Amino acid sequence: MEACVICQLAKHQLRSWVVYEDENVICFLPLEVEAFGHTVIAPKAHHTDLFGVPAEVLACTLGVVQKVALHYQIVLGATGVNLLHASGVAAGQSVPHLHFHLIPRLDNDDLEAWPKLPGTKYSKDELLQRLQL
Ligand SMILES: [Zn+2]
Repeated sequence: MEACVICQLAKHQLRSWVVYEDENVICFLPLEVEAFGHTVIAPKAHHTDLFGVPAEVLACTLGVVQKVALHYQIVLGATGVNLLHASGVAAGQSVPHLHFHLIPRLDNDDLEAWPKLPGTKYSKDELLQRLQL
């Protein structure tokens, strides 16, 4: 048995609640469903995070993210989505297999899915000096 839980789910080696899958991507209900419609979307191939995933695998995965969002517009009446992701321990990634949490949003659902961040002491000019590609 593999140690990676998402790889195990992708190979149907664990009990899973699969919303959608294709050759490359799997979408399933997480162990802890934290909101109505909360769905995890991941490439089936093991890639740890955003830093190492090949661009074509990421594009494929995000294409399925959009497919699920459009589907939830129709079947749930979702008028928005939040897409949550963590890459790296510093970001709080707890499962080391690239994945996205999609939270469908309904008008007046009162969810707080956007974090309150502290801002920064740096000006935009200072930030650009560090950030521009
Ligand atoms: Zn994996």
